[in-house]
Amino acid sequence: MGCHKLLLSELKMWTSGRSGWISRLHYGISWRGKASFSSCSPKVCIVGGGPAGFYTAQHLIKARQDAEVDIYERLPVPFGLVRFGVAPDHPEVKNVINTFTQTAKHSRCSFYGNVNVGKDVSVEELQQAYHAVVLSYGAEGNRRMGVPGEDLAGVHSAKDFVGWYNGQPSCRELRPDLNCETAVILGQGNVALDVARILLSPIDILKKTDITQPALEALAESQVRRVLIVGRRGPMQVACTIKELREMVNLPGARPEMVVADFEGVTEALKDLPRPRKRLTELMLKTALEIPGEKEQERRNKASHIWGFRFFRSPVEVLADPDRSRAAGIRLAVNKLEGSGEAARAVLTGEVEDVTCGLVISSIGYKSLPIDPSVPFDSRKAIVPNSMGRVQQAAGVYCSGWLKTGPTGVIGTTMNNSFDTAQSLVEDMNSGTLDVSTGKPGSQSISTLLEKRGVKPVTFADWEKIDNVEIKRGEASGKPREKLLTVEEMLQVART
Ligand code: FAD
Repeated sequence: MGCHKLLLSELKMWTSGRSGWISRLHYGISWRGKASFSSCSPKVCIVGGGPAGFYTAQHLIKARQDAEVDIYERLPVPFGLVRFGVAPDHPEVKNVINTFTQTAKHSRCSFYGNVNVGKDVSVEELQQAYHAVVLSYGAEGNRRMGVPGEDLAGVHSAKDFVGWYNGQPSCRELRPDLNCETAVILGQGNVALDVARILLSPIDILKKTDITQPALEALAESQVRRVLIVGRRGPMQVACTIKELREMVNLPGARPEMVVADFEGVTEALKDLPRPRKRLTELMLKTALEIPGEKEQERRNKASHIWGFRFFRSPVEVLADPDRSRAAGIRLAVNKLEGSGEAARAVLTGEVEDVTCGLVISSIGYKSLPIDPSVPFDSRKAIVPNSMGRVQQAAGVYCSGWLKTGPTGVIGTTMNNSFDTAQSLVEDMNSGTLDVSTGKPGSQSISTLLEKRGVKPVTFADWEKIDNVEIKRGEASGKPREKLLTVEEMLQVART
């Protein structure tokens, strides 16, 4: 009853803002072209169209047969880091896009790209329009090293470097100078290994991937022959996984170069390591210490490129060339470990070591940023403070993905934490903790606001036009796709 009354008053509001809404409602077809649902149904909006956004939507739609879910995404294209983070030579990882597409095409789900929440529309406005708001906008900032010389030319964050070779519009202008022999990557996680692999991969491998054309051309001309992957702690604390390490070990045209002394005591410690860590460490030991068989030795002899871990080192300063115009090296502090296992701490020894290099890439982590002052934000942990995905001190606001947990874990981890958040939301609806008994306008009122502000959302059907154009462009050069590199180009194709 209450819901019906509200519906009438909302209709008055909407007709003043959106001509034609009544007639569309009358015919049971919403303006977005999907079957319309009762304005009494729970309406949820999700901020961010990456894995967390899509997995949250998937679980909500499945768990509540009446829920309507709208996904707002800042860029005109969906899928977040699956498009802009996952390495181009890992196409199998991108298969999750098929599941996300099914979710986006569900009759109770809609995608609105090109909507920057916090700028085009506030979280408070979303709260007024929806019963619940789920923040899933990822971790788009990067942690700084905090050392002198960090802003010199030739120093990049892995976030920007990855964004550059993956076609992130904001990284298009990066144009890293690869005219140097040695690159130093700070950090030893999977992203660091992705970057090392892309820097050293034979161009014939890369040209069959969806790497951008400008990156492909720059890498084809690259003079980088040696990549050092530097970590504060030792071989038993590296943050990469065995798959990524194995890819380095087997990288065509590249051979490993390790410091044998770094592995002192590691063989003895193997037996106490948990299984995944043990397998990873065994592979590292084999690579660093074992005399290779004949075939492998021959392969290594022919290799023109070198990669290696450098352990027990922290950046102190990026050293400039004589003109002070660009990076020419990096000063590393030599550490020793206190304690053992995952909890071991790197402690300075007072010694330093300089490494000559023309490219420095810091891969020491991503971090979430606040997008709206009305949302609580823990600046120290760089997450939205939450309990099981319920944002603290903000009723009706939830979070999932990297914004909820911090930037750790793979897509599978993100899936689980997003399902958990969706489950918390469903439980709150079912228990009445979240009131869904009164109607909410959902996307209808938000579209009116966006229209007034000159923002034209990109629908999922519009994205499919972009997708088709990219795939067609890729066919010409034997690539799975040739990505559009600017927002303008994407919007132009979306609107044809
Ligand atoms: P994101 O993927 O970052 O999605 C967030 C979305 O929110 C983005 O689309 C963004 O545009 C949008 N957004 C941001 N701000 C706003 C705003 N104000 N309004 C609206 N929308 C907004 N995992 C694997 O399993 N395999 C891999 O090979 C792999 N490779 C990776 C490589 C790199 C370089 C990185 C960084 C991560 C990789 N991961 C990989 C991890 C995986 O990408 C993450 O687990 C996952 O993307 C996190 O999902 P998310 O939705 O929280 O964040």
